[in-house]
Amino acid sequence: MGTRTRRQFIGGLTSTAATTALVACHPRGPWHPGRGLPQLPPNLFSLGVASGDPRHDSVLLWTRLAPDPLGGGGMPEVAVPVRYELAFDDAFAKVVRRGHAWAEPRWGHSVHASVNGLRPDAWYWYRFIVGEEVSPIGRARTAPAPGRGDSLSFLFASCQNFRHGYYTAWEHAPAEETDLIVHLGDYIYEGGMASGGVRQHNSPEVHTLDGYRNRYALYKQDPALQAAHAACPWVVTWDDHEVENNHAGLVPQEVEEQPEFAARRAAAYQAWWEHQPVRMPPPTDEHLRIYRNLDWGRLGRFHVLDTRQYRDNQPCGTNDWGTVCPERDDPARTFLGARQEAWLGRSLKRSRAVWDILANQVIMTALPVAGALHNFDQWDGYTAARSRLFDELRDGRVENPLVLSGDAHAGAVGEVVGQTDEGFTEPVATEFLGNSITSNFGEELWEAAEQLVVDLDHVRWINVRQRGYVRCDATRDAFTAQYRLVDTVLEPSSPISTASAWRVEPGHIGAQQI
Ligand code: FE
Ligand code: CA
Repeated sequence: MGTRTRRQFIGGLTSTAATTALVACHPRGPWHPGRGLPQLPPNLFSLGVASGDPRHDSVLLWTRLAPDPLGGGGMPEVAVPVRYELAFDDAFAKVVRRGHAWAEPRWGHSVHASVNGLRPDAWYWYRFIVGEEVSPIGRARTAPAPGRGDSLSFLFASCQNFRHGYYTAWEHAPAEETDLIVHLGDYIYEGGMASGGVRQHNSPEVHTLDGYRNRYALYKQDPALQAAHAACPWVVTWDDHEVENNHAGLVPQEVEEQPEFAARRAAAYQAWWEHQPVRMPPPTDEHLRIYRNLDWGRLGRFHVLDTRQYRDNQPCGTNDWGTVCPERDDPARTFLGARQEAWLGRSLKRSRAVWDILANQVIMTALPVAGALHNFDQWDGYTAARSRLFDELRDGRVENPLVLSGDAHAGAVGEVVGQTDEGFTEPVATEFLGNSITSNFGEELWEAAEQLVVDLDHVRWINVRQRGYVRCDATRDAFTAQYRLVDTVLEPSSPISTASAWRVEPGHIGAQQI
């Protein structure tokens, strides 16, 4: 085990061993082509393919067999071997790896195959095969080798409520030809069916494993989302709607939901694991550790956060907007949980990357609206935890911290600051808040939100009116962010354009408009 590998392992990067164990030590033993398959319905690959969490020597491949995607999956209650092929070309003339992984009933017949021993900084094509059925083709890639890497490009996105629009932005993602797509959460919404949406949910509000599986299936049947997954590896985290709006740890949105909430969250976590191209082992209890880091050679390190699972309840008697109270600043309250907080400190300190990128869910900077209102579901509700993170970010060893955020359904660019009785504190990082893919920003709040640019020096730009994603390009000399927004999500297709573009130079906090 090399230094870097050991460091990552100790740092708690997800364990290859666990993933491999799922495949190699399966109770049903190794499979060989002559062993035969159970009789299966057609349309096994209805949810597409994906890859995720790339390493310099490994790709993670995902699919889920679901011939009846909205009806529980439709697979018989048996484990099924799924073959995969990895090639240098899309005709699969030069196959570099063949293998198989088990699709097990207890994990919704999902497949997570870690393919190791690959060359760094290389693109591959992959596909899955079950009997006569061949999956769509996807593209995966490895990260640059440790210490290497001259460029990194990625899209980041969040908040894709199916009811609020078409995935007109995702349609444009493959043409961006980026190395990665980073999703900051609200990949699904748990809510029920309601009139007035652009598209309809498939069930009332979701509470059970079957319900969450069917909800993921509804979203993942979208062809634009499938194409975006097939285009490049994704790095995925979650926010609240993967379980329930504005929940905090094991505290649900409404107090009367408390008795069933731990079971509900466990079901939601399992379904998330089953449907995302992630390396961590599946959940074994009510928790699922998803915070992790991912290195792009020497150029970038992603610190992928989970600000939802371990947080204390929102303060001051509300789980969204309110006015401050002493509880908010209580140093005993946590946002990341003690273990993740310590892990993040180590992950930042040990990083030798030019760009330290925090893949974070909710707005980090202090954001008083109309002078006195704060959203306590954001970092603004957890000021002591935020100060502790600021101490880490001010450490001279963190050269260039960049914070990516979602959740707000609006795009914005600014600097991360705190707030005391004397005013705002010195900026500690640059923050890019990404627009939602579809989720609404209430029209009645547009003007109040746009006033923030006037009222607050640390907010440089804001766009609450459009939907889309942010395209980022990094080299050793600069980090640029382009807000790529579509005209509408109310039609099945829509042109995309760059609404605003920003540049960060190493050694500087804050972005310049370009
Ligand atoms: Fe959202
Ligand atoms: Ca959210």
